[in-house]
Amino acid sequence: MVLGRIVAAVVAGALAMCATPTQAATTKTVPKKKVPFCQTYKCIALTFDDGPAAYTDKVLATLKKYGAKATFFVIGNRVAKHPKLTQHIAKAGMEIGNHTWDHKYLTELNYTQVYQEIKKSQALIKKTTKQTPKVFRAPGGLRNGNVEAISAKFKMIQVPGTTATQDYIKDYRDVSFLTDRALEVAEPGAVVLMHETVKETVISLPTVLKELKAQGYHFVTVSKLLEGQKLIPGQVYPEIEDPVEEPFGEEPMQDESPG
Ligand SMILES: [Zn+2]
Repeated sequence: MVLGRIVAAVVAGALAMCATPTQAATTKTVPKKKVPFCQTYKCIALTFDDGPAAYTDKVLATLKKYGAKATFFVIGNRVAKHPKLTQHIAKAGMEIGNHTWDHKYLTELNYTQVYQEIKKSQALIKKTTKQTPKVFRAPGGLRNGNVEAISAKFKMIQVPGTTATQDYIKDYRDVSFLTDRALEVAEPGAVVLMHETVKETVISLPTVLKELKAQGYHFVTVSKLLEGQKLIPGQVYPEIEDPVEEPFGEEPMQDESPG
């Protein structure tokens, strides 16, 4: 007991010497900060663009099998066409991102047109899934001041992706090639751009997930990957020098669903 009191007194004395009154108060009132998951674990954020479409459920089933989460950048007019598939994405615990209403290149539009492209899609995603997108991806990676200002207005950050399998290139649409590409571009903290509308990407997915899982990766949504970072709406995350840009004329991918 006596020893305990002496120790306590010494500790208190030491604290009094090194802590200013403000610091002491802060230590008392602020609860211990939780360390974001991806600061401890090896994370990767897979992203699937241009749906929902024919393979949405197949992609979701594969992700489920490997306990993986991902982010789906959906096109508004396809949400209108496939409300059920959009709900499947949300119900599976995936993140939904806004990829405009009809995939127009936003740098070719005026402020009002860009506003409509983003607003219309945002409203329908919200109505359909009860999820309000926090992440935005401009078609073709084409951004300007209007895109920045309007995505900020809707409290979204811009996520062009840090790397891509480039499944939008027709010659790359081969299952083993795209499997190799995905494994090649994967790295901790990456946001990988792929298309849920490309059949070969969908077929390659089980192998890609299996291999990356064996390498210790955790598959997370973009928001989870960025957890703990101070995010400014309208800005590009993750912060990298050369975000991915899809080429002109390659998008959107054809919707191959029968109805
Ligand atoms: Zn796209």
